[in-house]
Amino acid sequence: MNVYDSARMEDVLKPLGYEMTDGPDQANMVILNTCHIREKASEKVYSELGRLKNIKKVRDENNEMIIAVAGCVAQAEGEEISRRAPYVDMVFGPQSYHNLPEMIAKAHRAGDGKGRGILMTEFPAEDKFDHLPDPVKPEGYSAFLSIQEGCDKFCTYCVVPYTRGAEYSRPTAHVLKEARQLVEQGALEITLLGQNVNAYHGDDGQGGEWSLGRLIRELAEIDGLERIRYTTSYPAEVDDDLISAHAEVPQLMPYLHLPVQAGSNRVLAAMNRNHTREQYLEIIAKLKAARPDLALSSDFIVGFPGENDRDFEDTLDIIRQVGFIQAFSFVYSARPGTPAATMDLQVEKAVANERLQILQKLLGDIQTDFNQSCIGKEFPILLEREGRNPGQLVGRSPYMQPVHVDAPLDFVGQIHDLKIVSARPNSLGAQLVDGERKRA
Ligand code: SAH
Ligand code: SF4
Repeated sequence: MNVYDSARMEDVLKPLGYEMTDGPDQANMVILNTCHIREKASEKVYSELGRLKNIKKVRDENNEMIIAVAGCVAQAEGEEISRRAPYVDMVFGPQSYHNLPEMIAKAHRAGDGKGRGILMTEFPAEDKFDHLPDPVKPEGYSAFLSIQEGCDKFCTYCVVPYTRGAEYSRPTAHVLKEARQLVEQGALEITLLGQNVNAYHGDDGQGGEWSLGRLIRELAEIDGLERIRYTTSYPAEVDDDLISAHAEVPQLMPYLHLPVQAGSNRVLAAMNRNHTREQYLEIIAKLKAARPDLALSSDFIVGFPGENDRDFEDTLDIIRQVGFIQAFSFVYSARPGTPAATMDLQVEKAVANERLQILQKLLGDIQTDFNQSCIGKEFPILLEREGRNPGQLVGRSPYMQPVHVDAPLDFVGQIHDLKIVSARPNSLGAQLVDGERKRA
C-alpha cells in the first residue's frame, strides 16, 4: 500500500516540476512515507530523520530543503514528530497526500526556516482519489491498483483502523478506468490493494454495489489484462461469490494471501479476528475445491498476550495443515492505544523470539518443499526483466516465485509457458519448452 501511495505522490508532484532523485543528497524535498504497524517501523522514522537533518545541515545553507513525513506514523504521531524533530516542515497522513501542492505552496510562503510546521492529519470527507491525477506509466508489467482503504475490524493488536480510518471502497467506474489505463500503459498483471480488499463494496453508480468477486469478473473482461491478484484479505469476509470467482476467472492467479495470524481459537478470539481455526480451514477447503491448484500465504503474530505453548503448537499445526508456501511472521509488538497493549500476560521477549524462530524454520521448510515440488512442471511465467547473467531473464510464476531462464531479450514483457528444472529456497530455474508458445 505504501509503495502504491508513494507512486501516487510522485504523480501529484510531477506537474509541479518535481522529479525523483537517486537519494536525499540531491533532493529539494524528501518525503518519508512511513509505516506504524510495529514499533520498530515507527522508530526507524526518527533515526532516518536524524540522518536527513545532518544532510540538510551540510548541504542546504539557505535552508530550502523541505523535509516531510507522510503515512501512518505521521497520522498517529503528528504532534510528537513536530516536537521530537522540530526541523520537519510537513507532516501529513495517508488521506491527505492529494493536498501536496497546497502544502508545498504553504511551505514556500512560510519561507526558509527551521521547520515550517505544516500538519495535515484529518480524515477529509472528500474522496482523495477524486483529486489525484491519472497514474503515470507504471514501472514494469505488474501494477498495483488501490481499490479499498481503511478498516473497521479492530483486531485488538492493530493500529490500522486508527491510522487509515474507516473502510472506504472506490466507485467501480474509477477502478475500471484506472485498470484500463494501466493495461494501455503496458501492465499485464494488476494487484488490487486494500487493507481489507475483500470487504470491497464499490458504488456502481446505479444505486447498487459490486463485491470484489463481481469486480474481478468485470476486470477480467479487459483485453490484455492477463493476471489479477488481490491483497490483503480478511478471512471472515471471504464470501461464496469470491470463492466462485476463483473457479471461473482464469486470470485470477491460484495464489492467495489470507492471513490467519494464529492457530489457536483462544488467541484468535483475544485478537478479535471473528473466526475460529475450524472456520478458517473450511474457507480454505472451499477455495481449494474451487481452484485445486490454489496455494496460500499468510501473516503470523507470535507472542500475543496470553499465548502459551499449547496455543503456539496450534499455530504450528495450522501451518502444517494448510502448507503455507510464503508468510510474513513477526513477534507481537504492543502498539499504544490498542486494547492488546494493556492486556495481562504479555509474553516475554525471549520466549516470543524463540517461538518466531521455530515458526520461521517450519515455514522455510515448507517453502523449500513446495519449490522442489515444482520441478518438472510447466507454468506460465511473466518475464519481467533481464537477469544478472548474460542471456538470462527473470520472471514470476503464478505463485510469485522468481524464475530464472535463458531466453531471448524480446521475451521481456511477455508470458511464456516454461518448464521448471531447478529449485532454490527462494527461486526457481526454468527452461524454454519445445515449441513453447507465447501466452501474451
Ligand atoms: N488486514 C490484514 C492485515 C494488515 S496489517 C489482515 O487482517 O490480515 C499487516 C500485518 O501486520 C498483519 O497481518 C499482522 O500480522 C501484522 N501486525 C499488525 N499489527 C501488529 C502488531 N501489533 N504486532 C505484530 N504484528 C502486527
Ligand atoms: Fe488490522 Fe487487518 Fe485486523 Fe484491520 S483486519 S484491524 S488491518 S489486522
